[in-house]
Amino acid sequence: MFNQKFKTQLHECIREIEDYPKAGILFRDITPLINHPTLFAKLIDNLKLRYQHHSIDFVVGIEARGFILGAALAYALGAGFVPVRKKGKLPFKTIRVDYQLEYGVDSLEIHTDALREIKDARVLLVDDLIATGGTALASLELLDRLQAKCLEACFLIGLRELGGLEKVGEKVNVFSVLEYPC
Ligand code: AMP
Repeated sequence: MFNQKFKTQLHECIREIEDYPKAGILFRDITPLINHPTLFAKLIDNLKLRYQHHSIDFVVGIEARGFILGAALAYALGAGFVPVRKKGKLPFKTIRVDYQLEYGVDSLEIHTDALREIKDARVLLVDDLIATGGTALASLELLDRLQAKCLEACFLIGLRELGGLEKVGEKVNVFSVLEYPC
């Protein structure tokens, strides 16, 4: 599925921006990857192969780049898509969890009816990148509170040195397509 050649191609399309959004952060910009038509499609096709036999009810994408990957994957899997958003962005009734970012503190919310009252809904959590794991852990807490069954947390990029892969891995299965440092 994700062989070394394909991973190298993906890696080459992720741009590194120094000191963004603030000093000391090396931002991994996936826009060159998602505007590459065959590479983006192949990424989603390969993720589909990984999850297609897991009867996923919902792909849950984390704002903002998790929406891009998550919505495309939800479509490919024939699953629903659920957004987890920053505070105040969702229009209906929400539940909220506060969390720590690599660069700041924030809150995440999900609609109370996001899982359409499906009992033990089978969900896949998706984001572009995991660093400290705070965002993913907060999202998992939201999903716990909605009594979802999270089958895996899936990321395009895992920043191994920031510890999030291990922390989130204590709660659920974790998969990251690319791990940095390589
Ligand atoms: P964390 O909660 O520390 O795991 O941070 C993950 C979230 O912050 C994801 O939604 C990422 O999109 C974003 N993020 C954190 N660090 C970076 C980075 N170096 N480059 C791009 N996005 C990042």
